[in-house]
Amino acid sequence: MNEIIKQYREVALRILKPSQRDIEHGMELHKNSIVCESYGFSPRAAVDGDVVKAAIESGASDAELQDMTEDMRMTRYAECPKEREEYMMAWEAAGVTCILQNAGEEGNSVLRLIKRLARYTYGTDMMRGFMIRARQIGLEVGLRYVYSGNIPGDEGEHTYCYNCGKVLIPRYGYQLEEIRIEDSRCKYCGAAIDGVYAKKPGRSEGRL
Ligand SMILES: [Zn+2]
Repeated sequence: MNEIIKQYREVALRILKPSQRDIEHGMELHKNSIVCESYGFSPRAAVDGDVVKAAIESGASDAELQDMTEDMRMTRYAECPKEREEYMMAWEAAGVTCILQNAGEEGNSVLRLIKRLARYTYGTDMMRGFMIRARQIGLEVGLRYVYSGNIPGDEGEHTYCYNCGKVLIPRYGYQLEEIRIEDSRCKYCGAAIDGVYAKKPGRSEGRL
């Protein structure tokens, strides 16, 4: 385990003082659960000090520096192997399955939201293998509808029947060809499919 993660873990253990039995039980529960983080946890990458220094020396404004550092924190793991390694380790150590990001009061500006969304999407675009693996894990823990978005042509784009495994809604990007669900049931095996669907694909369909 990474030294810094280890240090923080030791601080937490010193404060909480769990017994060996408690910690083993807790870890076991955590491992077997789908853990959704809604408080804002998200691993971040370090900023590149040399790049920031050069920007300051060339007269970058406060707004430009703020934007530049946010960009580095949110995307450097996708480009820099060392940052990526730490990023993966942080995910692993946290044991978190998924995070819900809350825009928050300071993030209500549409332009800011679009910029942040673009940074998250950049991360997933650059780490396709990780996305595909994440989808597999979701399926293995029993989630019915898991997608690897932004990978046109990947099998993880389609909606599958959780019961018979057949493709119910084939997709390429945002294009749908067909909906093989009749009266909210799989056309092949009759399993009840969550959601309400039109008979034919419209111009744009939400995913489920
Ligand atoms: Zn089916």
